Amino acid sequence: MNRSLLFPVWRGIGGSGGGSGAGAWSRTWERCLRWEPGQGARIPMFDGPTWLVLCQGGRARIMEVCQRGKGAIRLPTDMLSIKLPQIFDVHQVPKVFWEDGIISGYRHPHSSALDCVLSSFQMTNETMNIWTHFLPTWYFLWRFVILCSTLTSLSDSYTWPLLVYMLLICVYPFTSSCAHTFSAMSAESYHICYFFDYGALSLYSLGCAMSYGSYMMPDSWVNSWLHQHFVPIAVGNSVFCTSLSCYSRFLELQCPQRSKALRTAAFVVPFIFDTVPLFYRILLFFGGGSTDHLSNHCYHLLFAVLSCFLFTSHLPERLAPGRFDYFGHSHQLFHICTVAGTHFQMEAVLADMTSRRAWLTAQGATPSFLGTFGALVVSLTLNLGIIGIFSAPLLRKPRNQPHVTTATACESKEQ
Ligand SMILES: [Zn+2]
Repeated sequence: MNRSLLFPVWRGIGGSGGGSGAGAWSRTWERCLRWEPGQGARIPMFDGPTWLVLCQGGRARIMEVCQRGKGAIRLPTDMLSIKLPQIFDVHQVPKVFWEDGIISGYRHPHSSALDCVLSSFQMTNETMNIWTHFLPTWYFLWRFVILCSTLTSLSDSYTWPLLVYMLLICVYPFTSSCAHTFSAMSAESYHICYFFDYGALSLYSLGCAMSYGSYMMPDSWVNSWLHQHFVPIAVGNSVFCTSLSCYSRFLELQCPQRSKALRTAAFVVPFIFDTVPLFYRILLFFGGGSTDHLSNHCYHLLFAVLSCFLFTSHLPERLAPGRFDYFGHSHQLFHICTVAGTHFQMEAVLADMTSRRAWLTAQGATPSFLGTFGALVVSLTLNLGIIGIFSAPLLRKPRNQPHVTTATACESKEQ
């Protein structure tokens, strides 16, 4: 490397060497470095502005050096910052992901699992859906743990329906929050995630039937035909519910109205069946019967009706598309209502179970192992089988292009 003095150097404001005042150009000529980049050549360090005289091919060389330097400088910044996934508008994602009245806040239709988890910490149109079921999971789990710690013995068959019910009210919000988190991985995963969501909801309906059948039957119905067959019919209902709701997803694009009607029916049928004993008790109340714990049951019914209304109506976002993309759309409100309804239902079941224990035991109406854990295992197996049957054609479909990185690519995929 040859060194000679050729160029003046700008010392900056406050730098020495200026004529009058601070800064300005150095009075002396600064050193000149002749540098030939190549294998093993050390890149010189500059502590001030630098003049460059480029020889033939020098521009390409200097660009290469700048690129290498840029990468070296950027590296720590990239390592320290976590990039949140990009958010899209409705017309930038395939139609299968569209939600009525939701215009923005969609995640990439081929998000990775990590992107899906990260997206729960940024504002998308799914964020509140995830958290409105994830946080209540911990509340119900806390209640479940407290209940288990207060039970004197797990061999007390009278408590088994309650244990199954409490387990299932933890499972359904957790499955739902997972479904909302990972549904953006692909169109196939979108469907499969909601198959599991529906399966968990239909198992929850079985839990309701078990607890209602064991603790809430009107006095005159105890040991009747309906009482004895309440749980087996509920197992059949859960199979019907999961099958119909999963099937309804295949009609969503072609016949959205019919799909919605079938899905609503899939959940309303088991709900009405489970609630028949409660309706009868309410009827007895109007006839001058007992009012025991009816208020919590009625709050539960109120929230259940509200949930159904929000699920089917898509209000308020249908009235003002784009206004409720992130906060306040019907699905978030639906989640909140289901959780509030479940809370009141749980309180009512706990109260009925405690207050009627002596009378129900005296009637010989104690739950069996087969009628509780046995029915749960049978229903779980059947539900997983149904989900497997509906998921198989989706998993067999040829994979779409691995990763589309631009909105245009998403659009062209849809066309
Ligand atoms: Zn949901």
